[in-house]
Amino acid sequence: MYRIYLKPGKEESLKRFHPWVFSGAIARMDGEPEEGEVVEVYTAQKEFIAKGHFQIGSIAVRVLTFRQDEAIDACFWRRRLDIALQMRRSIGLVGREDNNTYRLVHGEGDNLPGLVIDIYARTAVMQAHSAGMHLDRMAIADALAEVMQGEIDNIYYKSETTLPYKADLFPENGFLRGGNADNVAMEYGLNFHIDWLKGQKTGFFVDQRENRALLERYARGRNVLNMFCYTGGFSVYAMRGGALSVHSVDSSAKAIDLTNKNIALNFPDDARHTAYAEDAFKFLDRMEQGAYDLIILDPPAFAKHRDALRNALQGYRKLNARAFEKIRPGGILFTFSCSQAVNKDQFRMAVFTAAAQSGRSVRILHQLTQPADHPVNIYHPEGEYLKGLVLYVE
Ligand code: SAH
Repeated sequence: MYRIYLKPGKEESLKRFHPWVFSGAIARMDGEPEEGEVVEVYTAQKEFIAKGHFQIGSIAVRVLTFRQDEAIDACFWRRRLDIALQMRRSIGLVGREDNNTYRLVHGEGDNLPGLVIDIYARTAVMQAHSAGMHLDRMAIADALAEVMQGEIDNIYYKSETTLPYKADLFPENGFLRGGNADNVAMEYGLNFHIDWLKGQKTGFFVDQRENRALLERYARGRNVLNMFCYTGGFSVYAMRGGALSVHSVDSSAKAIDLTNKNIALNFPDDARHTAYAEDAFKFLDRMEQGAYDLIILDPPAFAKHRDALRNALQGYRKLNARAFEKIRPGGILFTFSCSQAVNKDQFRMAVFTAAAQSGRSVRILHQLTQPADHPVNIYHPEGEYLKGLVLYVE
């Protein structure tokens, strides 16, 4: 196995179980590992410290284990996946009558950096974010089929857009197990078409489940506007919660189709819902003052990288300012950021600035984050990415 030697002192974060080795921390390598290969990491004093997937780029090694005697083999994948499953079971997400949608593996949060697995009824959608997870996909699929025995029939691999394209991996999306799966899954008693073939991420934003459930509690008797609706998740919950009307907006016509399909699946012929394929900013500009008293803003990640931070914060400020200006007195605003590069304080500051600009009196009712099946590894605080505020606007 190839060995990587760190510069003096660069093992400190690994001693605290942080799962990444940055390329700048490396003094030298024994040989030239291929991208995705498992390598051993040693301190400048030549002591073993970690083992993980090698990749060219700023994160050079994603750590799989801190134990030298733990081989990365079939047993390893089975063990890690089983731990992930037991965790979901113990928090009551597995084996429910009313829910078969959850995240089984959340990268670093499950000590499997670079791997995401979402469960949709009897199908697992697996996504590799690193060359190593891509190369090990067959072994992972074998382990997954074994660990999830009886729970799933299909494994769909969806990594065409998530892998570093420079690595020349040519991933192809497709079934590794089973196929032709029924694509309707259930979340808290509501049904959703999951477009794992073409949809964003693994086909659905599993991470908003608990926040959608919270929204349902506030929907009764309100006129709801769901901005950036994608599959219409928040809209369907608002309908069940007894909203007077629900308007869904997304710039993508495909998203609007999906939203209409999901509404029809749960509330056929219900005239309370209308969907608009339109740019969110244009919609907010032209919409009538006070037309809505429950607004959801769940935009895509405005900042994918640190250098885009300034623009991202400006984007959040502008977007939220429009909502504060126009929401009916006594209205409730659910506002989110899923940009990893924007931290909680920065997001809050952007929303505060927007509120102040509107001059309205605003109170925080809830501070939201990602759900328990998207756990944050305590040694990898960067894993906390979803931030949300529920605000009461006088
Ligand atoms: N709230 C959704 C997830 C939102 S994903 C859920 O709970 O599932 C972000 C969505 O924003 C995508 O569907 C994308 O098509 C849409 N989008 C991106 N830019 C937009 C814009 N300028 N105006 C409207 N929608 C936009």
